Amino acid sequence: MADIIKLLPDHVANQIAAGEVVQRPASVVKELMENAIDAGATSIKLIIKDGGKTLIQVVDDGVGMSETDARLSFERHATSKISSAQDLFNLETKGFRGEALASIAAIAHVDMQTRTADNEVGTHLKIEGSKIVSQEVVATPRGTSISVKNLFFNIPARRNFLKSNQVELRHITDEFHRVAMVHPNVEFHFYNNGSEIFNLPSTKHRQRIVHIFGSKMEHRLVPVNEETEVVKVSGFICKPEFAKKSRGEQFFFANDRYIKSPYLHHAVVAAFEGLIKSDTYPGYFLFLDVDPSSIDINIHPTKTEVKFDDENTLYAILRSTIKHSLGQFNVAPVLDFDHDPNLDTPYSYKEKGAVIPKVTVDATFNPFEETRAKKGGSSANFSKQSTKGWEDLYEGLGNQNDHQEFSSVVIESESEEQGTLYSGEGVEEHLASTFQLRRKYVVSTVKSGMLVIHQNRAHERILFEKFLGEITVKEGVSQQLLFPLELTFNKQELNVLKEIEESLTNIGFIFDGLEHETVKVTGVPMLVPESGIGTVLDRLIADYMEGYNDGSISQAEMLAKVLSRNLAVRTGDILDTESQLMLVNNLFACKEPSLSPFQKITYTIISEGDIDKKFN
Ligand code: ADP
Ligand code: MG
Repeated sequence: MADIIKLLPDHVANQIAAGEVVQRPASVVKELMENAIDAGATSIKLIIKDGGKTLIQVVDDGVGMSETDARLSFERHATSKISSAQDLFNLETKGFRGEALASIAAIAHVDMQTRTADNEVGTHLKIEGSKIVSQEVVATPRGTSISVKNLFFNIPARRNFLKSNQVELRHITDEFHRVAMVHPNVEFHFYNNGSEIFNLPSTKHRQRIVHIFGSKMEHRLVPVNEETEVVKVSGFICKPEFAKKSRGEQFFFANDRYIKSPYLHHAVVAAFEGLIKSDTYPGYFLFLDVDPSSIDINIHPTKTEVKFDDENTLYAILRSTIKHSLGQFNVAPVLDFDHDPNLDTPYSYKEKGAVIPKVTVDATFNPFEETRAKKGGSSANFSKQSTKGWEDLYEGLGNQNDHQEFSSVVIESESEEQGTLYSGEGVEEHLASTFQLRRKYVVSTVKSGMLVIHQNRAHERILFEKFLGEITVKEGVSQQLLFPLELTFNKQELNVLKEIEESLTNIGFIFDGLEHETVKVTGVPMLVPESGIGTVLDRLIADYMEGYNDGSISQAEMLAKVLSRNLAVRTGDILDTESQLMLVNNLFACKEPSLSPFQKITYTIISEGDIDKKFN
């Protein structure tokens, strides 16, 4: 058989390498920004168009490159940063593999202008798909400017795989944050489609974090500092009460490099144990300094996964350091979820003595008269009055952390009362309507048997259809706030709010401008309790950032989903009989009652036959 093994031509090898290094525009941003840092820049500009699909440009005032270096920089394995394998164990730079520029140039149109301090003129180089198209002399400031245009122009499959501009911009912003956060002494500017979205002056770590995440961060940060033989830990953790349901503000840096480490994340979470709820994440910005020889960065091309020599020790140090900080800054004793809250009398209850349960007070009021009278129309649209009963369902939404234990105590006694009431007054009647099973299901009888409704999913479906209708038909009823609420958002959050402003307005939110960090809310949808506005908007933004992918669903649908998930009654919530009835009625007024917006079954009917079988 003839020999069949061939060496791949360089441009093919580069394209293959590009597959690993460049997943999306954000990867290019990371590589270019890191090169600028390695070049000793004091000021870095990032310019993006159309989520990086049309243009990614990074301009730095670093050392620049000579004519020869400029050309060489695009060769594979061309690097000025290491010269022997030994150097790998003593890395002081971000780059060292010498493949980023070669990879990028293999799959895009690259334009570079660069000049060193001791040259009067610079070099202007154009490369398209690994081919040098032109090289000229140019007058340019000291430093380097690299523009990357038409990413993946020669790999249509990869290009089609890219997400919407907003999603790509979000990934880029994440990379930008990671580099900017660890180099507070460097000044950064970030322009997107011609407008400046970040202007970060040279400063210290704490201020940099505040500049990036907004002034509300200022009073949330608790400093962390510890120096041992193995590692120096510095940075900040967020106070436990600001732990969030969504991830996003967790950052580890090792030797000035952003890293991902589930193991060390666990150490931080362990330090917060008992201070935050198990489904929330503490915020942290932690900078670890270790001996460069004790860390292996070269286990993955993107260099965010690293290997520490002694991870176990690091874990222990990190955990105790953070515990110490939490204790030292008096954060720990304030909240204590460890003990059983059911044993406590809630503060606001202490002086009150016995209170007549709410249910009895409301017994004569029947909100269904209203709804029923209107039946025939779509009762999925709650009228103004009929929201009354619902509002009670949202109590405690605003401050779930503090309220959950409170409301469960109150509700427990309420339900007991309810039980005794009914057993005294007519079991029949009670059973004939609805009852709640394990704070999870609403059970009722129908002709064919027993109807069991999953309260959370059913309510999600009801709210989903309601909000979807309002967003598209613009008929949301707004409740004017007597005193406008002031909420603070960071730039990224503001951008999301602007993206979805129209839909939010349609469902009843009224904002007094979205230009500044402090946003005045003057009106909210009927269904959102005033105390919960901040939380609802925060979750909306977080969910939107995480999940919005315009390919598959519309913005309206996405928002309706997020709102329904965040506002629906949950498993564990007690529903009074009015609310149970409304749930049943409104569910079956929905267009698609059988599935939640997340495609889960909302109810089932256990037929009389099925029940009969059990008695055979
Ligand atoms: P690496 O960063 O791993 O060395 P790259 O492909 O990213 O590999 O860059 C190759 C070389 O090009 C670098 O080692 C550096 O010498 C030079 N270079 C790249 N970007 C810049 C820049 N912005 N300023 C100065 N030199 C640069
Ligand atoms: Mg590099």
